[in-house]
Amino acid sequence: MSSASGLIGRESYAGISLYAPDRRPCAIDLSDNTNLWGAPPSAASALQEMTGAPMTRYPELYAGSLKDALAEYIGVGADQIVTGCGSDDVLDSAIRAFAEPGDRVAVPDPSFAMIPIFARMNSLDTALVPLTSTYDIDVERTLEAEARITYLCSPNNPTGASFSRKSIEEIVDRASGLVLVDEAYAEFAGRSVTDLLERSDRLLITRTMSKAFGLAGLRVGYAIGAPNLIREVEKSRGPYKVNAIAEGVALSTLRNDMAWVRANVDAAIGNRVRLIDSLRDLGVEPLPSSANFVLAPVPNAGRIAHELRGRGIGVRPFEGLTSAPGTSLAAAGGDALRITVGPWDLLAPALDALREVLACFA
Ligand code: PMP
Repeated sequence: MSSASGLIGRESYAGISLYAPDRRPCAIDLSDNTNLWGAPPSAASALQEMTGAPMTRYPELYAGSLKDALAEYIGVGADQIVTGCGSDDVLDSAIRAFAEPGDRVAVPDPSFAMIPIFARMNSLDTALVPLTSTYDIDVERTLEAEARITYLCSPNNPTGASFSRKSIEEIVDRASGLVLVDEAYAEFAGRSVTDLLERSDRLLITRTMSKAFGLAGLRVGYAIGAPNLIREVEKSRGPYKVNAIAEGVALSTLRNDMAWVRANVDAAIGNRVRLIDSLRDLGVEPLPSSANFVLAPVPNAGRIAHELRGRGIGVRPFEGLTSAPGTSLAAAGGDALRITVGPWDLLAPALDALREVLACFA
């Protein structure tokens, strides 16, 4: 049966567009916060050693071997892990598992842009809660939303700032429904709230192998939580979501490449400081970051990003982000460039190009 608008699709989908950031090819792509140091060293041999089975047969139903390895990495039981096709899939599955159509999801603003989209696709309402002037969660306003799911992203995308431990604890202790903490960038922050799992059985923490582990193309994400939560997410995630090739390489990385992961995280943290200093030298006041990217407020971010791409440099522009008065983000009208931290031989030419383009806009 067609809808009132005459379309065959759901009416609530009409306002959803395809995810389409400017991905015209460019020599130096600093736009998507992936690991710019390359793939984990054991990945190539893991792929070469694979026989036909990972292609001809279905993968494990719920990626049991990968759960074991991730459980060891995090220091929890395998029954506390659910995997998925990227953490996007895990977030979407969790949102679907814990809220009925019409329920509300509380989301900090600005934060990960996919969450309101997942909410809408699952017939949920989103309550956007502006961040404070220190880019932290506004605890009271978040709790006032009385949401069925409270989403917190720490370190937050796109600001890069971690939320304070105290704010997260308060939400975990006082929120009525599920608290979903997205830790996609936790490795770069050197801290996590996985220890809070011991005091709350309504906390679910999502992580990914797309960032620190350098495996974005393989799409491996996971969540950590109490076994009864994990079972619910697995119901909505469904079977076979992590393909066998991805599972094989992810396992090899967890078993053989942890020193490489740690070294790259350290390099990213070092270059993050250097990038922030260099941006300040250009007259830009970046936000504090504990992720592998930096948010640099600049007016006309869309046009600047376009000019940079023309010079072979990809960065992610944001326009009109919600920002507390008095912050450098508000001073730029909520416009900013998000720049992925990578090796310095990629960042140096990007900074040169930015210097040139900013001069044109001065
Ligand atoms: N959460 C956050 C905060 C992100 O920035 C991203 C990637 N853009 C994701 C989740 C999804 O990552 P993936 O699906 O690659 O695991």
